[in-house]
Amino acid sequence: MGLLSVAVPFPLVVLLVCATAVLVASLLLAADRAAAARPAAGPGERRRPRPAPHPPPTPHGEPPEGGTLVDGQYTHRKVSTLSIQPIRIFGDPVLRTAAEEVDTFDKELRGLVKDLLDTMRDEGGAGLAAPQLGVSKRVFSFDVDDVIGHIVNPVLEFPDEEEQDGPEGCLSLPGLYFDTVRRQNVVAKGFNEYGDPLQIVGTGLMARCLQHETDHLDGIIFIDRLDTERRKAAMAEIQSQDWYNEDVKVKVTPHDAKGVFFKR
Ligand SMILES: [Zn+2]
Repeated sequence: MGLLSVAVPFPLVVLLVCATAVLVASLLLAADRAAAARPAAGPGERRRPRPAPHPPPTPHGEPPEGGTLVDGQYTHRKVSTLSIQPIRIFGDPVLRTAAEEVDTFDKELRGLVKDLLDTMRDEGGAGLAAPQLGVSKRVFSFDVDDVIGHIVNPVLEFPDEEEQDGPEGCLSLPGLYFDTVRRQNVVAKGFNEYGDPLQIVGTGLMARCLQHETDHLDGIIFIDRLDTERRKAAMAEIQSQDWYNEDVKVKVTPHDAKGVFFKR
C-alpha cells in the first residue's frame, strides 16, 4: 500500500479504500444470508441414511447382477430412477396365459414399457415380454445388436419359408439355452407406446427375438417349440435347476392387471 500511496493521488486512495470496504461488507452480508437460508441442524438430526446394499445372494443358484432369488423368483430393488421389476420364472401361471390386446395408449402403458426396457437392460436380455413381469398385456421390449425398442399388439408376418436353428434362452428360465428352430425372416407390425403404427423387419437374431417374445404373449414358452427329443432333454435340465419349483405361483404384480390401461 505504501508504494500505491506514493504513486496514486490521495483522493483516489480514499476512493479505493472505500470501494474495498463496500465490497468486503457486501460479501459478508451475502455469506450471512446464505447461512440463514440453510436450516440449522439440531442435535438430534442425522443425515439421510444411505440406501441399504443389495441383499446377499441366496445359496440357490447364481443370481443375475443386482438381483437375488426369493421364493423361486429373481427380485430387484429399485435403483435410482430405473424401474426394475421382478421377473416371473418358469412355472408361474402368468407365463401360460394368453395376454390381452392393448387398446388404450396412456401413461400406465408407458410406465409398463419403461419397466420392460429398464428390467431388460438390467438383466442384459435381448427381449422381455409383459407377462414376464406379471402383466398379461400384449407388449414387449427388445434389444438386439443395439436396436432397442418396444412394440404393442405385435402381429408377425413371414415373408419366406427360410429357417434358422440355434441357441435360444429366456430370462424366465435363467441360465439355460436350447437350440430352437425359428423362421429366419420376420416382419412384426404393431404400435409404439403412443399408438403410432410401427413395423420391425427382423432377420437372424432379431427375427428369433420377435418370435420368442410374441410367443410369450400367447402363453407359449420357447421350449414348446422344441421337437419331442429336445424338449425332453430340456425339461430334464430345467427340473435340475435350483430355481425350479413346481409350486411357484407368484401373485404380486406392480401393475393393476385388471385393465387400468385397457377399456373394460
Ligand atoms: Zn422369454
